[in-house]
Amino acid sequence: MNQASLPVDAPRIIPRPEHNISRANISRAALKVLYRLKEAGFQAFIVGGGVRDLLLNRQPKDFDIATDASPEQVHAVFGNSRIIGRRFRLVHVRFRDEIIEVATFRGIGSEDEESEDRQILDVTGRILKDNSYGSIEEDAWRRDFTVNALYYNIADFSIWDYVNGMQDIAEGRIRLIGDPVTRYREDPVRMIRAVRLAAKLNLEIHPDTATPIAQLAPLLDNMPPARLFDEFLKVFATGHALESYRRLCIHGLLEHLFPATARWLAADIDGKRQRFMERALANTDHRIAEGLPVTPMFLFGVFLWGPVQERAAELCKSGEMSENQALIDAGMEVTNEQITRVSLPRRFSVPMREMLQLQPRFMRRQGRRTGVLLQHRRFRAAYDLLVLRLELGEVTPELVEWWTKIQAMSPDEQQKEFGGQVQRQGSRSRRRRRPAPSAS
Ligand code: ATP
Ligand code: MG
Repeated sequence: MNQASLPVDAPRIIPRPEHNISRANISRAALKVLYRLKEAGFQAFIVGGGVRDLLLNRQPKDFDIATDASPEQVHAVFGNSRIIGRRFRLVHVRFRDEIIEVATFRGIGSEDEESEDRQILDVTGRILKDNSYGSIEEDAWRRDFTVNALYYNIADFSIWDYVNGMQDIAEGRIRLIGDPVTRYREDPVRMIRAVRLAAKLNLEIHPDTATPIAQLAPLLDNMPPARLFDEFLKVFATGHALESYRRLCIHGLLEHLFPATARWLAADIDGKRQRFMERALANTDHRIAEGLPVTPMFLFGVFLWGPVQERAAELCKSGEMSENQALIDAGMEVTNEQITRVSLPRRFSVPMREMLQLQPRFMRRQGRRTGVLLQHRRFRAAYDLLVLRLELGEVTPELVEWWTKIQAMSPDEQQKEFGGQVQRQGSRSRRRRRPAPSAS
């Protein structure tokens, strides 16, 4: 957005009696920071997801604070704080069980990573000229959606609304601030954010905000894969994976994040592939609802299992390669291709490929290697994938039941069952096995 288009209207101010945000629902740490800033003579607001979620009667994940104090001034107010970030400096105020992020109002254009004259400091570090910091109005207009640009003012508990966000909250709508095409071009990740927030909060995307996505989705192809990995985690590892996934498909975004998976799904003749994906993501949401951890290594494994298997079949057909070797090579190829879109750190991609490679070994139920598989450090994840493969019709319920049952047995019983030696590998073999059903 350029300066010329910057509206200079005063905010609509919604006084405390006319909205539902109560201090009882704001964390003590956030309140402390807000009050201390106010006492030090600064403006202090909660902004973003915290205000949005409270207005929608949900418990926010965290509370971000915006202020007219510079990072140095904020740091001076709080002994328990640190200035972080290089591109845009923020202050983290540390409490025993919470870190509160305090940001100075940002100006229009401060998202522009290329420009170097964003900030000119004097010798003491005071900002002389900056395209970085700005007024609260500017801070509001550079945010993505109207519902994310509402400010809760600690001075009188009112809400400041520059962008008509309150109406969109009331009507359950996600709407980009400003011209949608321009805003998506500025930052294509906003397309994913729109879908994610709509899924998470059960909101509708305003047609003007939704329509350009179909055409602009290819802009995601040039995003840094590491940024998309961060976004991937927010979409798939925060409890609304299934709904987000469905909407990513509808808006044509999945094919730009997981092209091989999208191609595999497009050839889904009997709906099994879709069911496999949906069951995996429903399980993920379940786990999060129960406070269990989820790992991107398993999620990526789910996304890539189909494409890897297909590629392995091709490799097998065309050469003298063994089935196992084909699966290894295909896992490598497909992963390397995938991480040009959404990156996956090696600490996840290595175990992910192991988990995929273990799949054929579940077909054998006799002999020493069966015992070795049970002790494998990827056994549990590989087993969870095996359970999901029921949806694809690749394994029989009877086989899955056998592997479910065997895990619950003592080593002696296991040995009787498959006739091989159960290897005791350090403490791992003594670890209590969790019972089925599948997870992650
Ligand atoms: P969640 O509750 O899932 O964290 P959130 O809206 O708080 O959702 P964050 O990524 O934590 O999402 O971002 C905090 C705020 O920063 C947003 O509410 C929005 O105002 C602003 N913001 C985040 N990403 C962008 C973006 N790409 N462009 C413009 N503003 C953004
Ligand atoms: Mg947030």
